[in-house]
Formats: sequence, structure tokens, C-alpha cells
Amino acid sequence: MADVHMANAETFAFQAEINQLLSLIINTFYSNKEIFLRELISNSSDALDKIRFESLTDKSKLDGQPELFIRLVADKANKTLSIIDSGIGMTKADLVNNLGTIARSGTKEFMEALQAGADMSMIGQFGVGFYSAYLVAEKVIVTTKHNEDEQYVWESQAGGSFTITKDADGEQLGRGTKITLFLKEDQLEYLEERRIKDLVKKHSEFISYPIYLWTEKTTEKEISDDEEEEEDKVKKEEEGDIEEVDEEKEKDESKKKKKVKEVSYEWQLINKQKPIWLRKPEEITKEEYDSFYKSLTNDWEEPLAVKHFTVEGQLEFKAILFVPKRAPFDLFDKMKKMNNIKLYVRRVFIMDNCEELMPEYLGFVKGVVDSEDLPLNISRETLQQNKILKVIKKNIVKKCMEMFNEIAENKEDFNKFYQSFSKNLKLGIHEDSQNRGKLADLLRYNSTKSVDEMTSLKDYVTRMKEGQKDIYYITGESKKAVENSPFLERLKKKGYEVLFMVDAIDEYMVGQLKEYDGKKLVSVTKEGLKLEEESEEEKKKKEEKKKSFENLCKTIKEILGDKIEKVVVSERIVESPCCLVTGEYGWSANMERIMKAQALKDSNTSSYMSSKKTMEINPENGIMEELRKRAEMDKNDKSVKDLVLLLFETALLTSGFSLYDPNTFAARIHRMLKLGLGIDDEDEADEDVADIPKLEEGGDSKESKMEEID
Ligand code: ADP
Repeated sequence: MADVHMANAETFAFQAEINQLLSLIINTFYSNKEIFLRELISNSSDALDKIRFESLTDKSKLDGQPELFIRLVADKANKTLSIIDSGIGMTKADLVNNLGTIARSGTKEFMEALQAGADMSMIGQFGVGFYSAYLVAEKVIVTTKHNEDEQYVWESQAGGSFTITKDADGEQLGRGTKITLFLKEDQLEYLEERRIKDLVKKHSEFISYPIYLWTEKTTEKEISDDEEEEEDKVKKEEEGDIEEVDEEKEKDESKKKKKVKEVSYEWQLINKQKPIWLRKPEEITKEEYDSFYKSLTNDWEEPLAVKHFTVEGQLEFKAILFVPKRAPFDLFDKMKKMNNIKLYVRRVFIMDNCEELMPEYLGFVKGVVDSEDLPLNISRETLQQNKILKVIKKNIVKKCMEMFNEIAENKEDFNKFYQSFSKNLKLGIHEDSQNRGKLADLLRYNSTKSVDEMTSLKDYVTRMKEGQKDIYYITGESKKAVENSPFLERLKKKGYEVLFMVDAIDEYMVGQLKEYDGKKLVSVTKEGLKLEEESEEEKKKKEEKKKSFENLCKTIKEILGDKIEKVVVSERIVESPCCLVTGEYGWSANMERIMKAQALKDSNTSSYMSSKKTMEINPENGIMEELRKRAEMDKNDKSVKDLVLLLFETALLTSGFSLYDPNTFAARIHRMLKLGLGIDDEDEADEDVADIPKLEEGGDSKESKMEEID
């Protein structure tokens, strides 16, 4: 990196967000700066993984540098710390893109997280770990060589820009990356051997490549006078053959000697690399699992649960699985590939994020799998058809279920788990028919009888009333929106418990679940809700009531027209005058709301169709009784029309639909208010004509719906 190179240096500006991030890193007071080393070593380890994977199918990829290692060099004279790896390296284009001009989504998210009180040590999770170098360095130089390009040097003191220079004359790496940190004056502790060793032990112990530290060694040697022999010894020492020299020394005890201090340097291995999953679970401490998990995932928190197991028999593999405490910030970001399961074959790392090992809905589970049976030269392409992998996957999913059940044994842990990952479980119920039952055991809901704490379906079943055959649920936007819904009236009165399903994904989930423990899951907002049989007498009474309301039903249907499918006398409402239910197999009001929101997103309006509604009226309700009387006297009574429309619109709201035309609704209400207040409408007739649309026009024709969506 001599100045000679600077002559042909190209200067680049940091992308704006990265620049912002850099100044945050440099200027924020933050004491736990040591995490920079973990981040850089982790990047080296990733780069080594990549070249090792490539070399499995093409050995010649290692020609530039056959050994795979991470080396650390602390240069006290120049106050630099270098991290050198023989990983995949970066081409010039990689340098430009990865280190400064293309911001990942994590850049902004990390800054927001920091502002919200997140810890700097979380940096690795957001995919911007490299920049943590500036916690301790005022200048960083990255020298790198990729197989497909020449050696380049990246250099920056932050401050808005970086340079890239071709490095033909510098010391050649063969392949890999050397990151040199020019430490700030107050960060020279990172040059101390002890400090570096401790840090590697603390944060990078489970890196599966050897980490060497260039260490100074002072040895006191007794040197005999014999010139010839001395030369011989020095030679042997240079070959690293120290032991033998010692032995010889013993033999030569009788000869004349003098003491000399010798300073030598050597690469000292400072990490153990025996993979933790090969050890016996009972011999591994919680701290070791935690530390392994952190190095595996870049998470700063301990995992919520761990499962370490061996499968033997027709096939053999070892695995450690973890459930994190929180969902990552981009859990459902389809663009980002989850980095969940690392696959090893007989201790050799094969790949990160092996999608074939875990169904999508379990993407939040992290871990390693080490197979004895897979071929070493397995590629992403051949993975998909691999039978062994399919069996491994099945076993892993089973173990995940076990792990979730173990979490469920501790209420507090399970709450955390459920908060973070209930969407995944529900997605699983939708997708994974084999484990549907097991996943359903993990569901928790509030209900009419479990208002403050959530209940499991299992507990619901134990509370079912005698004669109750089905499990009842209501879907909606929130607990608040459903807990006083008219649909619950009759069920509440009868003492039947109703589950509140208020997560958008519940609609999809319950469509697949259909039943639990042999009991049908029944929506209380849909047609066909049948409560238990009544006595003959009651039945008779009901039939009579129904008959007497037949005409009103017809009249209402005439007034509302296409807005509804039909009008029937309700069995589910007790207090409210009426409600709107949807077809048993069609969309619920909640689903309509969800689909509308999605139609807005992808602007594909045709994907949105409203659900078919049936109006159910309550014959016991005073308003209905009055309406019946009026309709009987004069079918074309204007006030009947008005009231029916108003009832319909109100029912839309209480049944979880949205108003297609709130203005008409408001105008209708205003008119009622005036009526109630005794304001004579005639006087203001002129103004009102413009304000109030004709009441008959509901305004909810297909066209106006489309307009709303656009
Ligand atoms: P992350 O490692 O999470 O992707 P970083 O900011 O730490 O984010 O690094 C950005 C990118 O720079 C990496 O994805 C990688 O492509 C590249 N990179 C960083 N360090 C190295 C290295 N030692 N060898 C090769 N590439 C590296």
C-alpha cells in the first residue's frame, strides 16, 4: 500500500446511508468496541466457507493458496492489527459493491434499531458487520485477491469516500483477504497478545477454521561453543524442529554452554476447532451452547431453546437446533434468504442455509446438521432430489416439534416464543399436513371465557359444555373488534366458548385446520351455525315466529336487492336487530378485509371479490317487530326503506365489514338526528338536496368498489 499505488487510485463515494452509518459508528459513544474482531473473523470464516464449497467440485480453485486459515497479526510498531484469511476474496466489482456503494436493507434498519436503543453489538445481524472496524480504526485497508481477478486494495478513513487501487507490486496473497486496521490512539489494547487471545476465545471459539496469531517468543537458549553444532541447531530451529534440539541438548550436558536470549515468531493456534456437535450433550455447558449459537447466528442474545441430538439407524447424523428469543427484523422478507441451517458432511462444511433441510415455515430455527451419509461433492442442484436429505428433514422437523413442546413447559418462555413465531406455526398448519395436529396443539387464543390469558385448543376442549360438538371461533381485526360482536350473543348466553382469531393469518390457517381432536372448527359469522337441538315446543314456537316474519324478510330483500343474497330469521343473535353472515365456504368479513388490503397492494383488483352476505334478523328485537308491523301495513312506506338501509349499513359495521359509502351512511344518520331533535327538514330542503344523496342509492355497486381500490 505504498504511495506508489495511489497514483492510479480510483475514488468512490460511500452510498449515503452507509456514510450515515459510518459516522454513527465513529461518533457514538460506545464502550463495547471489542465486537469488531468477532465481526471480521466471522466474515473471514464465511469467505473460507465459500471457497471450500467451490473446491468440492473443482479442486483447482485452491491452487492460489491451498491452505485454509485465518491469521491475526498485531504490529506494535505501526499500530496496526491485520486479519488475514485465505477465503474466496473479492473481485474489484465485489469491493466496490460490498464495501461501500450498495446499501443492504439492513443498513437503514440497523440505524433505526440503534436509535431505538439497540446495541452496537447487534451489527452482524443486520449484515453490515464489516463497518464495525471503524469502532477501533481510523483507517482501514483491505487487500484482496479473488480467483477471477487481480489483487486490489480498498482504503478508507471513512469521511465520505474510499479508494480502490490495483495492487500489482504489493505482497501477493495468492487468494483471500487481508484487512488492516490502523488503530485509534486509545484502542491500542487490541495489539496485546493476551487481549486478542481472550477475545477469540470469547467470541470466535467455534470458528471451524484454524485461527493463528503471529506471536513473539522469547527463549533462553544454552549454546555450546562448538561452532559446527550451533550452526546445526539453528538450522533445525528454522525448520521448526525444536523438540529434537532439546533432546540433543540433554545429551550434550557435559559440553561447555552459555545462555542467550532469542526472540522468534511463530503462528500460534488460538482456537479449538473440535465441533461442539461431536461432543456429548451432557458434557456441554449452557454457556458453551450460548456461545456457539452466537457465533453461528451473529445474535447478541442467548437462544430461547436448544436441541442437540444424534440420529442413528438407517442413516446417521448429528445436529444442534436453536430457537432464537426474537424474530429477526426481516423474518418474512422473501427476498432475503434465511441463514438457518448449516450443512456439514463428515465434518466438512458444505453450505449455509440449506433450504432442503427445513420447511419454509421453520425458517426461524437455526442450527447445524452433520451427516455421515451424504456425498461430499453434493451440489445445490442435486440436493433437491436427494433421498437422504428428505429423511434428515423429516427427522429435523420432528425434533423441532419436540423442542417447541419443551418450550411450552415454561409459560414465560412459551409466551416469548408465541409472540415471535406464532405466524410461523400458523403457516405450518396451512402447509404441513403431516404436522398439522402437533402444530395445532401449540396454538393459543383469547376467547369469550379466556379474556386476559390465551387458551390452547386442548384446554378449550376440556371446557366444552355437555352436548357441544363443535369448537366455535370468530375472526376479526382485533380482540376489541370481536369481543362484543353480535355474533357472540346467543353463544355467550348458552355458555359456549368462542375463540377470538384476530391474526390475518388465522383465516388461512383455520381454512386448512378444519378440526381439532375430532371436533369441527365452526365460524360463528358464517351460515349454517347450528346450536344444540331444542324441545319440540320451542321448535314449534320458533317456526311460528319465523312464519310471521316471512313477509318482512321478503320486503327487506326487495329493498336491499343485490347487496345481499337472502334474508333469514336468525338463531344466533339475542340483542342486536340483525347481522350479516357469509357462506360457510366463502370469505368471512375479515377475509374480505384482508383481501381488500392485498388487492390494494398488488393493484390486481380482479383478485378481490366481495363475499356473499346473508342478513339474519332477530325476531325478538323491538326494532324488527316495529318494522314488521309497518311493512305489513304499507310495503312502500318510505320510513321502512330508510330504516332497512340504515340497519343494513350498521350491520355491515358490527359484522366486521367496511362501509362502501360512508357519506351516504352519515347523511342517513344526520337525517335521523334531525328527526330526533325535531328540526324541520323542509326549511333547509334547498341546501340538503345537494348534501344528502338519495337514500335508495346505496352506492356500493361493483364500480364504486373498484374506484375505491384504485
Ligand atoms: P455480511 O458479512 O453480513 O454480509 P459485512 O458488512 O460484514 O456484511 O460484509 C459485506 C460483504 O463484504 C460480505 O457479504 C462479503 O461479500 C464481503 N466481505 C467482507 N469481508 C470479507 C472477507 N474477509 N472475504 C471476502 N469477502 C468479504
